[in-house]
Amino acid sequence: MPIRILPPHVASGIAAGEVVERPASVVKELIENALDAGASTITVEVTEGGMESIRVIDDGSGIPSDEVAEAFKRHATSKLNVLEDLEHIQTMGFRGEALPSIASVSKVQMITRPLGSDVATLLEVEGSQVLRIGPSAGPPGTTVTVEELFMNIPARRKYLRTATSETGRIKRIVQDLSLASSGIKFEFYSDGREILRTPGTGSVKDAMAGVFGTVIATSMVEIVDAPLGPYGVRGLIGPASITRGNRTGIHLFVNGRSTQHRALSIALEEAYHGFLMTNRFPVAVVFLTIPSAEVDFNVHPSKREVRLLREGDVFSSVSRSVRQTLMAGSTVFEMGKALSGVVKTDVEDSSGTYSPPRLHDGFARTETASYLGSARDLTDQDSLFSEDVAQANFKSTLGMLKVVGQVANTYVVTEASDGIYIVDQHAGHEKVMFDKLMLQWGKGSPEVQPLLDPIVYEMTPDQVDSMKESLTVLEEMGFFLEEFGGDSCLVRAVPSLVSSSSIPKLLDELLEVKRDRFWERFEVHYGIAASIACHGSIRAGQTLSHGEMVGLVEALAELENPGHCPHGRPTSIRMGIGTLGKQFKRI
Ligand code: ADP
Ligand code: MG
Repeated sequence: MPIRILPPHVASGIAAGEVVERPASVVKELIENALDAGASTITVEVTEGGMESIRVIDDGSGIPSDEVAEAFKRHATSKLNVLEDLEHIQTMGFRGEALPSIASVSKVQMITRPLGSDVATLLEVEGSQVLRIGPSAGPPGTTVTVEELFMNIPARRKYLRTATSETGRIKRIVQDLSLASSGIKFEFYSDGREILRTPGTGSVKDAMAGVFGTVIATSMVEIVDAPLGPYGVRGLIGPASITRGNRTGIHLFVNGRSTQHRALSIALEEAYHGFLMTNRFPVAVVFLTIPSAEVDFNVHPSKREVRLLREGDVFSSVSRSVRQTLMAGSTVFEMGKALSGVVKTDVEDSSGTYSPPRLHDGFARTETASYLGSARDLTDQDSLFSEDVAQANFKSTLGMLKVVGQVANTYVVTEASDGIYIVDQHAGHEKVMFDKLMLQWGKGSPEVQPLLDPIVYEMTPDQVDSMKESLTVLEEMGFFLEEFGGDSCLVRAVPSLVSSSSIPKLLDELLEVKRDRFWERFEVHYGIAASIACHGSIRAGQTLSHGEMVGLVEALAELENPGHCPHGRPTSIRMGIGTLGKQFKRI
């Protein structure tokens, strides 16, 4: 075939494939147009996961009658004039591709009435063909209805999942956009059922209430407002007691746009390291502000990808701010909070519907039971525990604890004016050692223990490479190695808390990890510190003297976040005076 320019409908069909991947992408584009039009209320209605119909209603600026047909032409946009505008784009859209792309693969009806006009324009397009255009009745603003998506692309249609799964994706889009635009009222209906409703007050917490439910929203903590990194980080994050088994509770935004950039989500998860059990994820809504010259959203037609000029700075801004916030609200696990009433063990998907406060008073936070479910020996009594709602200032209490004695050579029982505190001696000591190491390593000044008899450590060829690359990282932690011919090296010194028997095992662990990315250094420090702490700390079953118990409690009191060990287990639990009173039927 000779080379020729593709006819417009073929070209737009190809472009449509990039912009319109599935019903959720249509919803995204239509909502973004409504936002760009300055709408204050946006209603989204879908049926059959958007495969049957999608309607987005806004009360924004509308389109003048003589421009309506233009809007459906390729590269027609009112948002960009010259290429330089791309550098500081303020609107959600700018590529002028959405409407023509959607229209080329479905039946579209638009009714739009601009401000100040008293007639609306109605336009019907089917597979890029304008079927009808003319004056009509209609409210101010724009209503776009999309039916029979991919009617002319059976392959794409086949590739769609079930209605439930497509609805789920749409829900995620509406959640993201309504969290990012908390000043705008959003309503989302699927097959006539209300799925989400936000009040448009401008408060992110209020928008979160619409997205996640009031209980979760009210327990969110605002990210501490301190310039901890080069970029501004704002938002609300959940305490360690509110977790999910997947990332559906995580919403990250760069300059107001939702993104799933890897460095960002790793930064967030990193900050929660040690606060959450493995495979549990936080609920968090985080907004990052980056000078527009340092971000590029024009990477993918659907703008879901973002290129960041200084990933490392972005990473550290997010992880430091979030971690700081978590540290500030250190909690202690509370015994006996959920003794009666309905125990709701999981909030996994309460995000589905907006509803008024569902749970009441003390039972609200019993989702911690899910974390306890994994503590094997607790089985039947799981529901007896939950994290203190009031986030008692555990740290300050710790300083005042009076040691009473030891139970089962494993738990240190102490008292304070507000109740009984029980410390797990292993978890507690582990945390003390861990923090000590992380602090030294972070400052690059490890306490080192020279080995009088250097150990010879045999390596695989891979490990030899890894060792050569990581000598500095190793020395930061206090491991001093020397090449010793062929495949072995001489271990001259190790961090002071390491027992000599565990050296080869630690080195195996150290030389296995790749650390070519900036965030991986933290990961290495974390993993190795946790290993050293775990092997070097007081065991369960070990008898402690009174002095040793006091020493342990005092050392814990000095930590920033004494409540959790590096693996996310609690170091201590509390039984408050109030709970004791209730148990003994005094109150
Ligand atoms: P883009 O958003 O990239 O400009 P679109 O194809 O999404 O491209 O829209 C084309 C144009 O149609 C927009 O630039 C805008 O002027 C107009 N438009 C689309 N949707 C709306 C709406 N809901 N309200 C007002 N104007 C709209
Ligand atoms: Mg658009």
